Amino acid sequence: MKKIIAGMHAQSPKTDLRNLTQKQLVRFVESLGQPAFRGRQLLAWIYKPGIIDFSQMTDLAKEFRAILAQSATMSRFDDFQVECSRDGAVKFAFLLEDGRLIESVLIPEEDRNTLCVSSQVGCAMGCGFCLTGTMGFIRNLTTAEIVNQVCAVRDWALTHDRGPLTNLVFMGMGEPLANFDHLLDAISIFTEQRGLDFSNRRITVSTCGLVPQMKKLGDLTDVNLAVSLHAANDAVRSRLMPINNRYPIAELVETCRTYRQKRRKRIMFEYTLLDGINDSDRDAEQLVDLLRGVPCKINLLAVNPTGDPAYKNPGQDRILRFQHILRSRGHTVFIRQSRGEDIAAACGQLAGKWWEKKTEEKTGQAD
Ligand code: SF4
Repeated sequence: MKKIIAGMHAQSPKTDLRNLTQKQLVRFVESLGQPAFRGRQLLAWIYKPGIIDFSQMTDLAKEFRAILAQSATMSRFDDFQVECSRDGAVKFAFLLEDGRLIESVLIPEEDRNTLCVSSQVGCAMGCGFCLTGTMGFIRNLTTAEIVNQVCAVRDWALTHDRGPLTNLVFMGMGEPLANFDHLLDAISIFTEQRGLDFSNRRITVSTCGLVPQMKKLGDLTDVNLAVSLHAANDAVRSRLMPINNRYPIAELVETCRTYRQKRRKRIMFEYTLLDGINDSDRDAEQLVDLLRGVPCKINLLAVNPTGDPAYKNPGQDRILRFQHILRSRGHTVFIRQSRGEDIAAACGQLAGKWWEKKTEEKTGQAD
């Protein structure tokens, strides 16, 4: 019964089934005296839209449903706020059981609906240009809290004519590889056919560069890897991203070079351009040298406003020039436009403050 206790809700003696992978569900039903296939059946029901209690699971025996009602729950996010950006991005703020807030962002594009998912409340990594980083680390999300973001937005999108979710990216609040076990369990639920049935190639995990966990992720999953690089030398990167003091650039890039992934897959490097800090021609040349021989694509982003005057957008001309240098040396480079800036939903802007502001406005407590 030990494994099941790990999936139990903190305040409840009942097991939250949304914390459990298929394997764990099988063990759970076996502990209730049921055959293994009931666990697989249960997984399919748990993730069907509109299923909120066990009485709806019509192909399970009545007695088993009664046992489930006694011993298990299926958590979900009912309490959330939604804000739509002029550019189509939609921000969701979810209130957790302990009163903490997390955010997810739906980014619709012509051929896809991508959800940017959070993995922690706050973040310990302290990247200078990121608002989540200024919160510090509060806690890891449970597997259920990661999965429930996807279920809530999937259901919202279906009832608001936004179509199905097609892609998931772990680029919301937190460093996903610092919440490794729950990340792995959530990926298992996302990719299980009876679960949420996403293909591995439509899931991307983004990291600031936790080298040991990157290696483990490559060994254990087939999802895409994105690395927040943001500088081409240790001096600048350590200034922007304290994690670089632990895993310097050479070690990080070597890990990427040998990263275990399927042929033809490429690592995505994220590079946020900061005026006067990492955006010179020399920086671009250094980046070319650094990534030589690494199967990769590079995403260039302009910094989003976080209130810190040290980090300024270098402007479109500089971004284009930077891209040109990289492209002329054979790299695949995209300029990624920020989405949802008017609702502070762009990368690095998620901090749960929006919900607090909204709630204050609603209750008339704002000054
Ligand atoms: Fe954490 Fe990512 Fe922000 Fe860095 S950029 S502080 S890893 S959330």
